[in-house]
Amino acid sequence: MTNHSSEAPSHGQWIRIDSDLGLDVPDNPIIGFIEGDGVGPDIWAAARPVFDSAVKTVSRGAREIAWWEIPAGEKSFRDTEEYLPASSLQAINKALVVIKGPLTTPVGGGFRSLNVTLRKELDLYACIRPIRYLPGTPSPVVRPELVDMVIFRENTEDVYAGIEWKSGSDDAARVIRFLRDEMGVTVDPFSGIGIKPMSPGATKRLVRRSIRFAVENGKKKVTMVHKGNIMKFTEGAFRDWGYELAREEFPDAVISEEHLWTHHGGVIPDGKILLNDRIADAMFQQVLLRPSEYEVLAMPNLNGDYLSDALAAQVGGLGMAPGANVGDRCAVFEATHGSAPKYAGLDKVNPSSMLLSGAMMLRHMGWNDAADLIVSAVSSTIQSGTVTYDLARLMPGAREVSCSGFARAVIERMNLILTY
Ligand code: NAD
Repeated sequence: MTNHSSEAPSHGQWIRIDSDLGLDVPDNPIIGFIEGDGVGPDIWAAARPVFDSAVKTVSRGAREIAWWEIPAGEKSFRDTEEYLPASSLQAINKALVVIKGPLTTPVGGGFRSLNVTLRKELDLYACIRPIRYLPGTPSPVVRPELVDMVIFRENTEDVYAGIEWKSGSDDAARVIRFLRDEMGVTVDPFSGIGIKPMSPGATKRLVRRSIRFAVENGKKKVTMVHKGNIMKFTEGAFRDWGYELAREEFPDAVISEEHLWTHHGGVIPDGKILLNDRIADAMFQQVLLRPSEYEVLAMPNLNGDYLSDALAAQVGGLGMAPGANVGDRCAVFEATHGSAPKYAGLDKVNPSSMLLSGAMMLRHMGWNDAADLIVSAVSSTIQSGTVTYDLARLMPGAREVSCSGFARAVIERMNLILTY
């Protein structure tokens, strides 16, 4: 049952953080959801019954999610005249686990991105985006099955911090005067100015999370992706702080590329993780030409944004790309794509991005069997040739279905998988 007020549903129980065990998830957890703008309501309406069905089926009715609607975006503005009420931030902090649709941000004006605000206010410092090929999905590359990477993108700093001044404004003129008078740097007086802050603290917690993920999931390589040859004190420092963190906190687990060749003949020994780095532009070529050489990628905000969309294209496009924004307390799961306004309300786009984000969420809660069932059913539905328009146009002979039609087909597949 949806509860549209700010009251949490009374039939659910809170997820808690246990200092020893991590998340303590009851059988009927209250989980927050934000429908989102544009196609958000379409993919949410399609995905929710899939989540409910998977959880109910694998637990034989013992588990049920109590969904709690959290206002944000255009729908919230219509109801409350606020795009992101303070009570919504409090609600996310209370629920701890939330799934959201995309939120629209106007380009070049209006308000600051709600997504950026959410990430900053809740300190969701790691954007985690797994990029994995599901068999049967059409792809523009010859061997898409070689792509199996997890991106850890720093979420709070870099040019995305929102510190910028408009061309011609008094503030921009002050910054330009400061640069000239105090720093001896000349820039065009009509420049817009943006600041790119990157700190050791934010870098290290992101790299720490990526290495821990590698350790816990049996991955052998973590690659830092940066443009440190040009931006030495930001992107270059990202790389240096990453290596420093590995030396300080993972001295027994992590080896460098140099050590790999001088001591191990280029073969990563059992129980060790290779931490290396690549320049961002070269990395765009690497993921196309040698995808099997990369497993976990840690990178600053802008690089992560670009590379995750590019990688998503290799495994079927944005409609197939899940993600999560995670801090030490809360986790907000969301598709990588935006609100795709031209498809809003048409019941047309691919809900797999949301379905796979939900599977990530269930795994985060420790409900791996429900997550596995969703991933298998999405994969097997696509393999059967039942797909939304984005994949259908690349799959001769496919049966094109609507957004909700695809979700219904996934539920049928889940039942079939469990029957056999
Ligand atoms: P977009 O990701 O919304 O859409 C780009 C194109 O990708 C669409 O036109 C469509 O062809 C395709 N696409 C996206 N989702 C799809 C799906 N589920 N199935 C099939 N095809 C899909 O990018 P945009 O048009 O640049 O951004 C629209 C708005 O979304 C902007 O306001 C932007 O700021 C916002 N945005 C929000 C988020 C977020 O909430 N996390 C992320 C990115 C962009």
